[in-house]
Amino acid sequence: MADTIFTKIINKDIPADILYEDELSLAFKDINPQAPVHFLVIPKKAIATINDIGEDDRELVGHLSYVAAKVADELGIAEEGYRTVMNCNEFGGQSVYHIHLHVMGGKLLGWPPFTDKPKTLE
Ligand code: AMP
Repeated sequence: MADTIFTKIINKDIPADILYEDELSLAFKDINPQAPVHFLVIPKKAIATINDIGEDDRELVGHLSYVAAKVADELGIAEEGYRTVMNCNEFGGQSVYHIHLHVMGGKLLGWPPFTDKPKTLE
């Protein structure tokens, strides 16, 4: 797959506000936050979408949730709560084709997250 902006962040070719890093993953602040706390957790392995997660990636994808909870705790939003979201393809609102877990918190979030855009499957 083609490199995305997240590959550049992993390789430190462009800056990011990094919150956590280990051999498998990276967590950094979203550049366009949608909540008082909004960060992304990504695998260092480039996987384009949720649809591309392979059998061998299952542990890695679980690790992203582990890191999300760890960083949320460090940022002080764990007890009140937060939301994790992984968008997939156009209808899911995905814009960067390297899977990433959004972690949003720091205020009461609305639900459901539908927009008024008229596009549906029918
Ligand atoms: P999605 O629309 O689910 O693919 O989410 C992509 C997210 O990446 C958006 O929330 C963007 O604000 C965020 N983003 C894009 N470029 C950067 C960047 N250079 N640093 C941090 N976050 C970014």
